[in-house]
Amino acid sequence: MRKSIATVSVSGTLIEKLEAIAAAGFDGVEIFENDLLACSMPPEEIRARAADLGLTIDLYQPFRDFESVPDDLLARNLRRAEHKFQLMERLGTDLLLVCSNVSPGAIGDDDLAAAQLRTLAERAAEHGIRIAYEALAWGRHVNEYLHAWRVVQLADHPGLGTCLDSFHILSRGSDPIGIEAIPGEKIFFLQLADAPLLAMDVLQWSRHYRCFPGQGNFDVAGLVRHTLNAGYAGPLSLEVFNDHFRQADTRRTARDGMRSLIALEAELKGATRPPVPSGFAFAELADTGALGEVLSALGFVRTGGHPTKPVELWEQGGARLLLNATGAAPALVALGLESPDPAGAVKHAESLLSPVLPRERAPREARLDAIAAPDGTQIFFCDDSWLSDFAPDPDGRAGGEITGIDHVALTQPWHYFDEAELFYRSVLGLRPQGSLELPDPYGLLRSKAMSARDGAVRMVVNIAQVGAGDIPWQHVALACDGVLAVARRLRAEHPGLLLPIPGNYYDDLQARYEVDPELRRLGVLYDRDEDGGEFLHLYTVTVGRVFFELVQRIGGYDGYGAANAPIRLAVQHSGDN
Ligand code: MG
Ligand code: MG
Repeated sequence: MRKSIATVSVSGTLIEKLEAIAAAGFDGVEIFENDLLACSMPPEEIRARAADLGLTIDLYQPFRDFESVPDDLLARNLRRAEHKFQLMERLGTDLLLVCSNVSPGAIGDDDLAAAQLRTLAERAAEHGIRIAYEALAWGRHVNEYLHAWRVVQLADHPGLGTCLDSFHILSRGSDPIGIEAIPGEKIFFLQLADAPLLAMDVLQWSRHYRCFPGQGNFDVAGLVRHTLNAGYAGPLSLEVFNDHFRQADTRRTARDGMRSLIALEAELKGATRPPVPSGFAFAELADTGALGEVLSALGFVRTGGHPTKPVELWEQGGARLLLNATGAAPALVALGLESPDPAGAVKHAESLLSPVLPRERAPREARLDAIAAPDGTQIFFCDDSWLSDFAPDPDGRAGGEITGIDHVALTQPWHYFDEAELFYRSVLGLRPQGSLELPDPYGLLRSKAMSARDGAVRMVVNIAQVGAGDIPWQHVALACDGVLAVARRLRAEHPGLLLPIPGNYYDDLQARYEVDPELRRLGVLYDRDEDGGEFLHLYTVTVGRVFFELVQRIGGYDGYGAANAPIRLAVQHSGDN
C-alpha cells in the first residue's frame, strides 16, 4: 500500500521534513498548513521540491470550522476556501481535509451541514479539488465517524467524501466495524495514529500524546482491516501530534514512522510473527577491570577467554556474562538473545529497518549478527554456536544460587522512548507488560516492561533523563533460587557491595506484610502481588553505569518490584553507596 505521513508528525522546517520523509521511503505527504505558511518558498517551489524527492502531495490540511454556520459566515468561509483552492492548485494537490466544526456557534443541523458542504464541494470541483470531511473527536456536533459519513451521504456530491482518522475513532471508543458499511470510494483518506490509554480531555490527548501505530494501546491494525474491507485503496497516512516527536531528530522519527507502517502491513498480511527470543544467551559488559571482582563476589567464575578479543566469559548456572576490556567505563553494551531461528530473526529485523551492524569476525568464529537497539545496545541473535568461540578455562565450572538472567534494564534517551516500545514489540516480538511512572527524588522515571510470552526474555526500558538529573544506570537482574542465602554470604564477605536500604522502608514493609525480619538485616527488598506471588530482590552498588540485581520470583510473580524502585533510586541518587 502507498505510505504517507503528515508533515506535522516530525520536527524541522518544511524542507527538512520533506527530505527526511523521502529518505525514510514514504510515497507521499500531507502538507500541514502551518508548515507551508512558515516556509520561505512559494508553493510552486515546494511542489517541485517534493516531486524531486519522489513525494506526491496527497492532502492539504486542515480547513476548520466551515460547515453548520449562518449564511453571512458561510459567505466568508467560502471566500477563505477559494484562497485555499488557489493555493492547492499552485501546490499541485487535489484533496482538502475539512475538519468538523468545533465552534460554539456551530448549528446542530445535519441538513444545513450537508448543504453547505455540498456547496463547498461544487466550488472545489471547479478547481479539480475534492473534499475529505473528518469528524474531530471534539467536534461541536459532528464528532463520530458515522455521523460525518451520514452528512456526506446527505450532501451527495461526487467530490465530497469522508476522511477516517484512527485517533478520532478509537479515542471515543467507537466500534470501527461500522467502517465496512461505507463504500470504499467514499473514504477519501485514512489517517493513522496510535495513543497510550489516558484518562484526559480528548483534545489534549490528541494534540500531545498521539504516537505511531504499535507505540500505544489502540488496535490500529484492526481499524485498517475494516477500512480495507470497505474497499479503501488510498494511502495509509500517519498523522501524529506528539510533544517528543516535535523535538526529536527528524530523520529518525520519519524512519520510525515507516517502521510502524511496515510492521502494521505485515500484521495485516497475517505474516508470521518474528522468531521470538527464547532466552538470554549472554549480556556483554564493557569493563575496565572492576567488574571481575563484583562477579566473583556474586559467585560467578571465569570460564573462558576469547582467543582474539579481550573478552572473558563468566558463568554461574545458566547466567553468562561477557566482560569486554574495551577501556570504556563499565556499561551494558550488548545482549545475546537465544533465538529458535537466528537467520530468520535477522531477516525480520532488516525488514523493519534495523540493519545488521558491521562487525569484524575471525575466519573460524561463529557467525553472529547484531542489530542496534534504540539506545545503541547491540542485540545479537544466537544459537549456542557462539560458546565454542571461547577457549574454556581448565578450572572454570560454575555452580551457585544464580540460575540465569531474569531481566535487563536499559536506559533510553527520553525522545527514544516510543521508538523503543515499537522496536521491542515489532523487531523482537516482545509484548508490553505495562508502563509506569515512578517517583524519583528529582523527577519521574518512566519505565516500561516488555517480555516474551513465557517470561523467558524480559526487558525493562527506562527513560534516561529525569528532571535536571541524568539517570544513566542500566542493570542486569540475575535470577536466583535463594536470594537470602546469597545476601547472608555477601553481607558477611563483601558488605560494601550491597546497596544500603533505609530502615524506614522496613518499618513500613513490616506493617504491610509480616515479613521475615531478616530482610531488614540483609537489605533484601520485598514485593507481593494480588495473587500472593512474592518477589525478593537486592541490588549491588553501581560500577560505572551498571549495577546488578538479584531476584527471586515465588508463586508466579510476574512484575519487577516497581513499588521498591523509588527507594532504590533515592539511595542511588544519595551517592552514599
Ligand atoms: Mg486527522
Ligand atoms: Mg529490575
